[in-house]
Amino acid sequence: MNESIRYDSSVSEQSSIRRPKYALSLEGLNKVYRAKKKGIDTHALKDINLNIERGSIFGLLGPNGAGKSTLINILSGIVIKTSGKVKVWGIDIDSHARAARAAIGVVPQELNLDAFFTPRELLELQAGLYGVPNNERRTLEILERVGLSDRAETYSRDLSGGMRRRLLMAKALVHNPPVLVLDEPTAGVDIKLRKSLWTFVRELNAAGTTVLLTTHYLEEAEELCDRIAIINNGELIACDETHKMVASLDSKELHISVAEDITDAVLELNNFDVEVIGKNQMVFRYRTGQIDISSFVETLSKTGLTITDLVTVEPDLEDVFLNITKD
Ligand code: ADP
Ligand code: MG
Repeated sequence: MNESIRYDSSVSEQSSIRRPKYALSLEGLNKVYRAKKKGIDTHALKDINLNIERGSIFGLLGPNGAGKSTLINILSGIVIKTSGKVKVWGIDIDSHARAARAAIGVVPQELNLDAFFTPRELLELQAGLYGVPNNERRTLEILERVGLSDRAETYSRDLSGGMRRRLLMAKALVHNPPVLVLDEPTAGVDIKLRKSLWTFVRELNAAGTTVLLTTHYLEEAEELCDRIAIINNGELIACDETHKMVASLDSKELHISVAEDITDAVLELNNFDVEVIGKNQMVFRYRTGQIDISSFVETLSKTGLTITDLVTVEPDLEDVFLNITKD
């Protein structure tokens, strides 16, 4: 492990004294993975500017390969940024790397655990790595919190996937960081465990921990987060309060079947987002609150087409999100 990681109790002390407006702040953050030999470089993060308020649960949403893990691994010091400024709990990760790392706990995407350690040993080891003094260790308390106290002496290899994930959370909490980062905490996790992880995240947040999580489930971000940023292809393409983000993603479809062949009649509908999907069928896409449906219906009736069927469809948010990030 990295030798510069050191528990610094003054950070947790400072955390009550120093209350930064932003738990995390990124300014002009870039990451370029240089190609090995003749390949091409990957510009994984492009000029990311992002502030995450202290006390929030913030969701970083994006499809696979968007750059989420890269961003998180920069925060935890696993990946070295190419350029830009990053502060964790107001602490610059370049000039005060140790203190910055002491302020953050990261639960990685991969369930990488040593098979032959028990949860208790693993947390003790982690506490040692962070230099948490014996009298400040809370190994059993933390295991209790993640619901693993009855597994304290079980080899990691004998823990279920859900237990391993909770153990990784416990590991990230050992040094009592004011900021907790979760990289796709519920990817591949069944619905029951997902809900229990959500509850745990909410509890931590209620107790004062700022949470950043990445996900590719809009539903998860919607359920948990105060604010959501969308990242795609290394670019931050949107960032807003959750309810506003969801509203702006809220699009609907009206499927229209008509008796006649759809030909030039559609021209009249050109001002609307209409797509002809068959000889007698078209789809009108609109965002609730952004368009006057009656003006569409009026125009539609002027075309003289005989409507045989009308169906409204609410695409699930996942699809809408994919549409937005597609280009
Ligand atoms: P996400 O977590 O959103 O799925 P990543 O941050 O893992 O995205 O990846 C972003 C981009 O950077 C991808 O194109 C990925 O292939 C590339 N990438 C990630 N890690 C490395 C690495 N160690 N070396 C080279 N390219 C990488
Ligand atoms: Mg990832």
